[in-house]
Amino acid sequence: MSDIQRSSVTKKQGRSKNKHLPYQRKKRNQSVKEYLYQRMNGKCSYCHDNFKLKDLCLIKKNHQWNSLFEPIHNKVIACKKCSYKKSEMNHKEFIRYLRRERWKLRDEISENYREISSKVFNRYENKCIYCEFEFGYTPKKRKKQLTLDHKRSLLCHGDNDEKNLASSCYIHNIEKDSRSSEQYFKYLRDSGRKFKPKSIIPK
Ligand SMILES: [Zn+2]
Ligand SMILES: [Zn+2]
Repeated sequence: MSDIQRSSVTKKQGRSKNKHLPYQRKKRNQSVKEYLYQRMNGKCSYCHDNFKLKDLCLIKKNHQWNSLFEPIHNKVIACKKCSYKKSEMNHKEFIRYLRRERWKLRDEISENYREISSKVFNRYENKCIYCEFEFGYTPKKRKKQLTLDHKRSLLCHGDNDEKNLASSCYIHNIEKDSRSSEQYFKYLRDSGRKFKPKSIIPK
């Protein structure tokens, strides 16, 4: 393909800055907010939690723009909590701030991991809340494989409260990623795996 051809292709299809999001053009009858909502699949740009359209705000990414000349890519859609926290911060600054906050919370746990984990693991009878060890671990291995799981992940404004902590095996904790435990249960159910929330979850 010659250079001229190639440039015409990219111009026609356009390129999305975020590799994971397919490029979509804004439709004429769509508002900017609706357009961004559709592009983000109903997620907040910062905490990646799902929200309804009315619970999200359209905010500025960076503040150097005069509102008259502000381009559309300077707008992001964020939940109320994120937009309140961001306020005067610029996009990259805010992302760094969020990361630091998460580190702080993780440090809090790692400082007295033994104490917290033994409490939480006892509460859940040393079982993973997602599979109850359907992998067939031996009892000795079970304890080694258990990890502390944030039901509501730190990315989605979860905290280190005991109610927010659960025991899960390493594999499920990694796979769950930043999803909340309800979302992950739903994912497991939808993907046809047999794991279901069972009796071990204390009320
Ligand atoms: Zn958010
Ligand atoms: Zn598991």
